[in-house]
Amino acid sequence: METDTTRLGLIDTGASSAPVAEASPSPTLYRPGTVRLLSLDAHGRVLDWITWQDAACLYAREAVAWTLGDPCLHIHGGTCRTTGLRSGMDLHPIIAARGHARSRALDPTPNLTNQALFARDAHLCLYCGQQFNRPQLTRDHVMPISKGGRDVWENVVSACFHCNSRKSDRTPQQASMPLLAVPYRPSWIEHMILSNRNILADQMAFLKAQLPKRSKLSA
Ligand SMILES: [Zn+2]
Repeated sequence: METDTTRLGLIDTGASSAPVAEASPSPTLYRPGTVRLLSLDAHGRVLDWITWQDAACLYAREAVAWTLGDPCLHIHGGTCRTTGLRSGMDLHPIIAARGHARSRALDPTPNLTNQALFARDAHLCLYCGQQFNRPQLTRDHVMPISKGGRDVWENVVSACFHCNSRKSDRTPQQASMPLLAVPYRPSWIEHMILSNRNILADQMAFLKAQLPKRSKLSA
C-alpha cells in the first residue's frame, strides 16, 4: 500500500466542497463520501460501485490485486503513539480485488427500480417525449399487468402522470399512443453508468471501453 505522507492532511472534515485543494501536480483528491469507487474482480470484470469504507477494508485486508487511475481519495487513519505520525491510505478510482468475487453471472440483470428505469429513459416520458423530474414520472407497463404483462425491463417505460393515466389499462396500440423507443434491459455496464451521477473520468473511460457497440451510452 502506498502511503504518501506529503499528502497527509489535505483532506479534512471542513465544509468546503469537493474536490478539495491539492498540491500541484498531485492528482485531484476528492472528499470521502462524494465519490464511489469502481470494484472489479481480479480478472477485471466490473462488480459494483463501492463506498470508500468498503474500499478501505479491501486495502486494509491487503485484498487489493491491482488498481487503475491516480489516487482520488485519501483516508486518514489513527496516529501512531510512538512516532506521532498519522497513518493514512490513498484509494484509487478503480480497484480490483483478489480472491473469489461474489458469484454472479458475467452480465447480471440490474435490479428494476424506478430510479434505474428513469435513468435508462433519460427522464423522458416515452409517450409524449417531454422530460420530467423524478417525482413526476411513473413506471408504465407497456403490456398492462392486468393483461398478462410482466414487470420486467423489456415491458416497462418511464411515463409522465398524464400519459400514464391517459393510456390507462390499454396497450399503446389500443390507446393510439405509440412508444418513442423500445424498452430494453440495460447491460450491467450500462447500469453502472446509469446508476452513478458522479463518475470520475478514469472510471467512465474504463466503463465506456466495455460498452456494447449498440449502446446508446457509447456516444
Ligand atoms: Zn407524457
